[in-house]
Amino acid sequence: MSDNSKTDLIKDIRSLLKYQKSLGIDSYPRTEGLQRFLEKREQPSAPSPPSRKYTRLVQVKAAIETREKHVFDPGLAKKATLADVRQELGDCTRCNLHKGRTNIVFGQGSEQAKLMVIGPAPSAEDDHGSAPFLGASGDLLTKMLAAIGLSREDVYLTSLVKCFPAGGQPPKEEEIRTCLPFLFRQIEIICPTVICAMGKQPAQTLLHSKESLFRLRGRFYDFNSFCSTELAEKMLIIPTLHPTFLLDNEEMKKASWQDLQMIQKKI
Ligand code: SF4
Repeated sequence: MSDNSKTDLIKDIRSLLKYQKSLGIDSYPRTEGLQRFLEKREQPSAPSPPSRKYTRLVQVKAAIETREKHVFDPGLAKKATLADVRQELGDCTRCNLHKGRTNIVFGQGSEQAKLMVIGPAPSAEDDHGSAPFLGASGDLLTKMLAAIGLSREDVYLTSLVKCFPAGGQPPKEEEIRTCLPFLFRQIEIICPTVICAMGKQPAQTLLHSKESLFRLRGRFYDFNSFCSTELAEKMLIIPTLHPTFLLDNEEMKKASWQDLQMIQKKI
């Protein structure tokens, strides 16, 4: 109703009431219709604001999608835990990889780890065992870590995607993009000194690069090429060869050892 129509209606009601008063009518029976008219209409309740943790996940996802620098939030990182992120992930069906998995392989290790190891995706063994880096390549990784004085419990192990890609295929770019916000939340909470990107996909994804792993490996990069803020600037990323590749290419173990020694010095 327009403002003019409302004013006219009020004027009409006023003159009607005046007229009825002049006839001695000064009250009305409280009929059902009048009761309904007088009842306060229920206002639709405002949707409750999303929780801060959820908002954070959306921010991280947006930053990844727009390829903007990921803005770390040290305040939130301190408050949230890996258990919170696991809860946010839930029984995830956000990408097609959920169809082929038996278990979500979220990650394993210390929340205070100085070294975070990121592989491309869980293997079939990881999928069945619900933990990252199991099987023969996991055994080799355990030996590699031991060689620099670390156990699996000292570090945090995870992957770009948390579900086993059926047939052991590398995860697709879209699947990585969908799962990446959860990895970034893990990084944000752990805030390691060094992130070791094991294999081509983790290296290229985390460095926004199309260069081959052989060109990328063997040096540290500031993680702030992806992130801004003081917190992210403290983190370094080093790409290296994946243990599965080393099992088939023993001659490359020397190169891998050089990378490991660089990590040992840094942490
Ligand atoms: Fe969800 Fe990640 Fe699994 Fe895709 S890979 S279904 S995004 S947990």
